[in-house]
Amino acid sequence: MGGLQKYIASIPKTEIHLHIEACVTSDSYRELMDKYDIPHDAKTNSLTDFSNIGSLASMLESFWFVQSFFREPEDFLYVVDDVIKYAQKNNIYYIEGFASPSMVLNRGMISFEQMFSTLVSGFDKAEKKTGVDVRLIVDVSRSFGPENAMKNLDLTVDFAKRDKSKRVIGIGLGGQEIGHPCRDYKEVFAKARKAGLHTVAHAGEEVGPESVWEAVDLLRAERVGHGTSASQDPSLIERLAKDRIPLEICPTSNVITKKYVSEMADHPIRRFFDEGVVATVNTDDPVLFSVELNEEYERVASALGFSRDEILLLVKNNLMSTFLSDSEKNVHWKRVQKAVGRL
Ligand SMILES: [Zn+2]
Repeated sequence: MGGLQKYIASIPKTEIHLHIEACVTSDSYRELMDKYDIPHDAKTNSLTDFSNIGSLASMLESFWFVQSFFREPEDFLYVVDDVIKYAQKNNIYYIEGFASPSMVLNRGMISFEQMFSTLVSGFDKAEKKTGVDVRLIVDVSRSFGPENAMKNLDLTVDFAKRDKSKRVIGIGLGGQEIGHPCRDYKEVFAKARKAGLHTVAHAGEEVGPESVWEAVDLLRAERVGHGTSASQDPSLIERLAKDRIPLEICPTSNVITKKYVSEMADHPIRRFFDEGVVATVNTDDPVLFSVELNEEYERVASALGFSRDEILLLVKNNLMSTFLSDSEKNVHWKRVQKAVGRL
């Protein structure tokens, strides 16, 4: 391991844009397939071959395909185990991860209650054992329209009220951005906010800066997922910086889905960071994109010249953009500085 790799690996980290189903390894999927007598075919064997994924649409297709292997509530324990292993491997102590119920509910085999109570009790146990704290953001999804998203929100509000461990903390808007503008979800977000849930939205991943403006102005999202196309609009960059609205940037994901970034050396994270935007580093879908968090930091550091101090600032941005309380953030930040010998 080189010096830079060692340094990055030594920093305790958080991750705030992670689809937890996309942490499930191909080994786990093969076990699920054996459980249900699903033949292993070329498509499953290429799950981690991102050469097949050239756009958000093809990524979503793979994502839904793998979700179809979850047929009993306890199958979600594979998600729990693989997320925790991924976190430990990358020195991650805290995750705010998306869980996507739409496809699961559409298949009619597992209820929202079953899915989330399995995840919550699984992550409760895992935290006691490993110290890794995983909170959940329900991806209400824009792929199936506002009515479906509202249904998911109502289920979330009802669940969160009864969730003693407070693991379900908010809603997010993921799925197909083209043809599903943020403005269609204004009521869903207003209702979520009223119910005391945190709100985040993917925007500017496949659609221009107007999508990010809508996420910020109409949805009043507390964080924007990706926000890549904001690079085309200087006034938007200024606004994000001024109002300290964090961007959950997923560098490798953006290079693979190709829309606004052709190679890592062109990624706007450098410009966002330099212009005062709260830029954070995340993986989006580690197994589908074949990337882990330590590597993401290595890639942006090598391709875009982030120094060690700047890497630490990105890590700090990530922690400060979580929905932890200020006092929790301060405790963690002291611990992080200690771990890298800065205290
Ligand atoms: Zn995402």
